[in-house]
Amino acid sequence: MSHVYLPGATIGVMGGGQLGRMLAFAARRTGYRVHIFSPEKDGPAAQVSNRSIVADYADEEAVKRFAADVDVITFEFENIPVQTIEWCAHDHDVRPAGAILHIAQNRLREKNFLAHAGIPLAPFRAVRSASGLKSALGEIGRPAILKTAAFGYDGKGQQAINEDANLEEVWSASSGNELVLEGAVAFEKEVSVLVARGTDGAIKTFPLCENIHRDHILDITVVPARVESSVERAAAELARSIAEKLELVGLLAVEMFLKANGDLLVNELAPRPHNSGHWTIEACATSQFEQQVRAVCGLPLGATNVLRPAAMANLLGDVWQSGEPDWSAALAVGGVGLHLYGKREPRLRRKMGHLTAFGADADEAIARVTAARSALQSGST
Ligand code: AMP
Repeated sequence: MSHVYLPGATIGVMGGGQLGRMLAFAARRTGYRVHIFSPEKDGPAAQVSNRSIVADYADEEAVKRFAADVDVITFEFENIPVQTIEWCAHDHDVRPAGAILHIAQNRLREKNFLAHAGIPLAPFRAVRSASGLKSALGEIGRPAILKTAAFGYDGKGQQAINEDANLEEVWSASSGNELVLEGAVAFEKEVSVLVARGTDGAIKTFPLCENIHRDHILDITVVPARVESSVERAAAELARSIAEKLELVGLLAVEMFLKANGDLLVNELAPRPHNSGHWTIEACATSQFEQQVRAVCGLPLGATNVLRPAAMANLLGDVWQSGEPDWSAALAVGGVGLHLYGKREPRLRRKMGHLTAFGADADEAIARVTAARSALQSGST
């Protein structure tokens, strides 16, 4: 029988970024203690946890010392070496399991797993050489996108191959490691579903998130998604089926493309809380972070209904370009909540925080959150 970790227990979190920070807030609110393992000193999660350890993921002694001090282990960051998770799993429950992390760490493994499970995907081929790229492109056709199989996120390590692209140039600009060529999807919208599965196999999906990207980085998420209810049902069904096939215990984000004909194609999985689920903190009966705590600790999953239409807007380091943002002006917009992650250096494209706003409907929530974000820089022109 799987173990239940009741409030008072210590949750060990691998990774120390903003997802760990919001997870720590949710865990501590519910009476858990939180211990963070991160290579970064005084990062977003360590600032709000009970304890933290700064060490490299490859430091076996530090990993084992961390594990000895916690009751159950989870992670907030995908690229934790599988060896590190194995050290943790030696005498602790790691949820989600290392095998799921292993799949999600590599696009090719992930796509093969999903294709095998009958999940609809954009056409893809593994590419390992210049000649392999040519033949894969012959099969998939243009336009296509070449992605690194590992360590890619927010569009990093991606190249679009349009009609006039020169394949030799594309190949020499690529990392040359294991790559995946994907057909470019002419999507109408990008959407995502967060799904949680408990130790007892119970599954709950959060309402469909509609995601608007800018320069490959998530910019705005809005709920309810402005789609037909049949799309919302189909997306939830896909997420549920992936969670079951992975035998997930924990939380998983499933990113999808919605085509104009209503078809959904799965783009990516992330077995952790996700940027597109931050709105759940204010606008959902249970936040994605609390849901992860519940799933990982073996408690009943919480209700996932939306309390009010809401929109989330990311605050990248770019917002600081002309000096300190005008927080008062943004917070003067009605129904807006500010989240800052405690990062000291506002670098361009770095996720520093987000705003969430409510509205009578999705459009009004977007208008409010956008107005609040614009107000941040209103005094700087
Ligand atoms: P990813 O790192 O795979 O999540 O890709 C980042 C963003 O690039 C996605 O959110 C899409 O906006 C875009 N993108 C990725 N793959 C495709 C594709 N096959 N077709 C069209 N756009 C894509």
